Amino acid sequence: KEELNIIQGALELRTKVVEEVLTPLGDCFMLRSDAVLDFASVSEILRSGYTRIPVYEGDQRHNIVDILFVKDLAFVDPDDCTPLLTVTRFYNRPLHCVFNDTRLDTVLEEFKKGKSHLAIVQRVNNEGEGDPFYEVMGIVTLEDIIEEIIKSEILDE
Ligand code: ADP
Repeated sequence: KEELNIIQGALELRTKVVEEVLTPLGDCFMLRSDAVLDFASVSEILRSGYTRIPVYEGDQRHNIVDILFVKDLAFVDPDDCTPLLTVTRFYNRPLHCVFNDTRLDTVLEEFKKGKSHLAIVQRVNNEGEGDPFYEVMGIVTLEDIIEEIIKSEILDE
């Protein structure tokens, strides 16, 4: 029974698209690029429990410009009140973007190549009068895809 479920989940990777499994932007734990890594913000980051945190510029959560890996904080002393930008510029983690209609098997292949296991999901917004523009919808990670295969939630450590 379990095996059948997994086979079915694996087959469905060819028909499902990232939009169906993403974590919406509104639910993402993110940081502003002008944040300062003091005791309060580092505590909040650790409390969030996430390993990768998108960084956005200005007041626009859509405007993701960087990713902070929590392991990048290993050498950061909260007493120094280091600007977040100092850390993200140093590590310069690549941003990996995919479109909302990308099939899950395609994203899985990209994740398997190992550059990054988190992607920013974008769509082309052509509603309204103005020119179409790219709009960030949320994030998708390897775990979201694996959950689709095994068809159950993976509880975090
Ligand atoms: P982590 O290692 O940080 O727990 P995972 O890749 O294991 O992240 O993903 C676990 C779930 O958390 C997935 O559903 C993913 O979309 C979501 N997720 C990952 N990073 C964040 C974040 N910064 N804010 C909100 N949700 C996130």
